[in-house]
Amino acid sequence: MLKDLRKLKLNKMSKFLVTGGAGFIGSHLTDLLVKNNHELVIVDNLSTGHKKNLEHLKENTNVLFLEKDCLNLHLNDKIFKNIDYIVHFAGIGDIVPSIENPSKYMTNNVNGTINMLEIARKLNVKKFVYAASSSCYGLATVPTNEDHEISPMYPYALSKYLGEMSCFHWYKVYGVPVNSIRIFNAYGTRVRTTGAYGAVFGVFLKQKLSNKPFTVVGDGSQKRDFLYVEDVADAFYKAAITKIVGEIWNLGAGYPQSINYLTDLLGGKKEYIPKRPGEPDCTWADNSKIKKDLKWQPKISFEDGVKRMLEDINNWKDAPLWDRDSIKKETELWFKYLK
Ligand code: UDP
Repeated sequence: MLKDLRKLKLNKMSKFLVTGGAGFIGSHLTDLLVKNNHELVIVDNLSTGHKKNLEHLKENTNVLFLEKDCLNLHLNDKIFKNIDYIVHFAGIGDIVPSIENPSKYMTNNVNGTINMLEIARKLNVKKFVYAASSSCYGLATVPTNEDHEISPMYPYALSKYLGEMSCFHWYKVYGVPVNSIRIFNAYGTRVRTTGAYGAVFGVFLKQKLSNKPFTVVGDGSQKRDFLYVEDVADAFYKAAITKIVGEIWNLGAGYPQSINYLTDLLGGKKEYIPKRPGEPDCTWADNSKIKKDLKWQPKISFEDGVKRMLEDINNWKDAPLWDRDSIKKETELWFKYLK
């Protein structure tokens, strides 16, 4: 018991660097770290993250914000003093733009990760946790475990996977203590409201606000393993402070939900749009490994999570409004290359 308390105290004092900490998942991890009295430095280039995600922390002296790209970070900055843990979320997402501009994805998601690994190596951190993507599995058999064959279907998926491979290369060659979490479908408040077409929640919430039908892909029976963002953040925290090193964990609720059920919960009219090539009918994380290793459990049910998003719906009032025609135009490359 005494030992546990001492360990707890040590963790309280430790300092985190969170890249992408102004973004969707990163800002929720930031909140958790603040709640647990950690000091932290956030690095974010604000390309998709927003300062307003951190607005509520602006008086907090334990939190330092640096607007910078991971590619341009250098160790001589004194903010890096005494960093114990790095959690690396920064990167670019979305499928369609990655088909259009693959090299931008490689630069950001692969070279950006390598630069952070170099920093981790020189800082001699206790842990480097990488935010990986379940898209590495391609059209997977479900439930999907960590030993499933790897088959990235588009450049975004490849870039995230190469980032993960780099982490394990730095572990093998330089002994940087890495862990990686392959996220399935994270959702929750602060999910991105701007930019490219993607992430179903942003699309549907804006459609609901505008009294327009939900653009349901296919017949809506496809399922996704949605996990509420606070549960995601909790998993990353645990993956950092654990003694376990060199592991990969799949992260999902383990209860896939259909898009039709989602629209039922949101409430509103629907219109159906064509199924996209290469889209899985079901994503479903076999989450038994992370549950066992990190004593992690999802705490927020899908129904509660959707309710929280509805309470927050006004955050989507400036989001782009998508409809059948604009989606068709936006996904042209998808239909061309991913068939
Ligand atoms: N989806 C939908 N309408 C949209 C956008 C997405 O029905 O306008 C569905 C899509 O078919 C998928 C789910 O929502 O089954 C999640 O899509 P998202 O792009 O968020 O994630 P991913 O497909 O990459 O898992």
